[in-house]
Amino acid sequence: MDRFKTHRNDVLLIAALLILAGALALFLRLGRHSGGTVSVTVGGEMVAELPLDEDASLPIETESGTNLLVIEGAAARMESADCPDLLCVKMGAIRWAGESIVCLPHQVVVTVEGGPDGGFDAAAR
Ligand SMILES: [Zn+2]
Repeated sequence: MDRFKTHRNDVLLIAALLILAGALALFLRLGRHSGGTVSVTVGGEMVAELPLDEDASLPIETESGTNLLVIEGAAARMESADCPDLLCVKMGAIRWAGESIVCLPHQVVVTVEGGPDGGFDAAAR
């Protein structure tokens, strides 16, 4: 009986944790501010840093090929690339701090950096 009880408590605990995690994720999602800048690194070296709230297109030249990064509507995406797998293009748009697009063949990493607090104000500006 004790065993059953323990097990039941575990299940309740796990369920509670899951609900908590879900609520937290939702909370973070709603409270999340859009990122402030997009950083571009090639082979681990920073080559460009662009504001996320200004539309732009940036060709990224690497030794292996070229990627075309497009920032539009406060989101960044790889518009095109001449890498063999095109995974970076398929990744779609990123807009939240910490999100990134990686092009392994070209060693290109595009990351959204955290914006200042009050991101909603910045977006409405
Ligand atoms: Zn790629």
